Amino acid sequence: LFSSEVKKCTIIPGDGIGPEISAAVQKIFTIANVPIEWESVDVTPVRGPDGMFGIPQAAIDSVNRNKVGLKGPLMTPIGKGHRSLNLALRKEFNLYANVRPCKSLEGFKTLYDHVDVVTIRENTEGEYSGIEHEIVDGVVQSIKLITEDASRRVAEFAFQYAKSNNRKKVTAVHKANIMRMSDGLFLRCCREMAKKYPEVRFEERYLDTVCLNMVQDPTQYDVLVMPNLYGDILSDMCAGLVGGLGLTPSGNIGISGALFESVHGTAPDIAGQDKANPTALLLSSVMMLRYMGLNDHATKIENACYSTIKEAKFLTGDLGGKAKCSEFTNEICEKITKS
Ligand code: NAD
Repeated sequence: LFSSEVKKCTIIPGDGIGPEISAAVQKIFTIANVPIEWESVDVTPVRGPDGMFGIPQAAIDSVNRNKVGLKGPLMTPIGKGHRSLNLALRKEFNLYANVRPCKSLEGFKTLYDHVDVVTIRENTEGEYSGIEHEIVDGVVQSIKLITEDASRRVAEFAFQYAKSNNRKKVTAVHKANIMRMSDGLFLRCCREMAKKYPEVRFEERYLDTVCLNMVQDPTQYDVLVMPNLYGDILSDMCAGLVGGLGLTPSGNIGISGALFESVHGTAPDIAGQDKANPTALLLSSVMMLRYMGLNDHATKIENACYSTIKEAKFLTGDLGGKAKCSEFTNEICEKITKS
């Protein structure tokens, strides 16, 4: 997809702690000599010709041009008339698969060891189709939309991901026993795709069974693929197994590009105080590098981040340490320079 020359990448620093953790990632990339030139864009909504607020055209053009971007957290304004910017970005760029690797970090103890699962969530339809209406007073309906196209697309992505990342198994997570038609269609698409990837094992599990098994023994799972709502919930649960949202990266994969982001919010309580943990955004940027084929740079940065956490000398407050964001970042830079 990408050649070896310097590649432009869009960066949306975001709100709250966003600018601090984005600056940390950019500093680490510079030290690691990553052949990337950043194009920073602001996505603060602007009023368009139709009077509606939307993402500024310059930001849209930048992502469309560069095909790859990194995004910090965005504040979701509360109140009428505001659409979620995250949702708008997902729609604008047709980001159909959300990928979240959840891996235990050595040296950071949680209730679970050796977790290494990847959730792949259908990102465009399902329970989040946004089609809701009131039938009569006191009775509302919400449509769960499942299409063959979107199901096949995300299933294909899951198997392709498993294959190219040396994963052994894909589990389709569903409730086709209850939602026979909608989840039934999703499942059928996964089964058909499984036949095209005989080298990857395939299994089907009910969502409730997966939740039960996941908290008892997460090591039995590898790559999981599922419709939108199940993915929303299960991916947060998996993040909890390895230490929470401050550590988990994510990628939103689209038809002609991808946007990588941390999954935590803007952390207004610590914003501007040099206290934020940049790990989630940094590991998201590592996913981005792998997506772009820059595997050596990805591994170098990832190892430096992992060993900084493992040594536990410069941990930020959320990980039980006292280090500032800048101290944690400098330690990673030092390790990269020495490697
Ligand atoms: P939050 O994730 O911002 O904060 C929850 C808690 O986790 C806070 O105590 C915060 O200090 C801590 N935390 C989060 N990220 C951290 C990090 N990197 N390092 C250290 N500590 C961290 O969730 P919230 O308070 O519910 O939301 C705040 C704002 O963020 C809201 O406007 C919300 O809409 C928005 N939000 C955006 C995204 C996104 O853009 N992807 C996701 C979730 C929430």
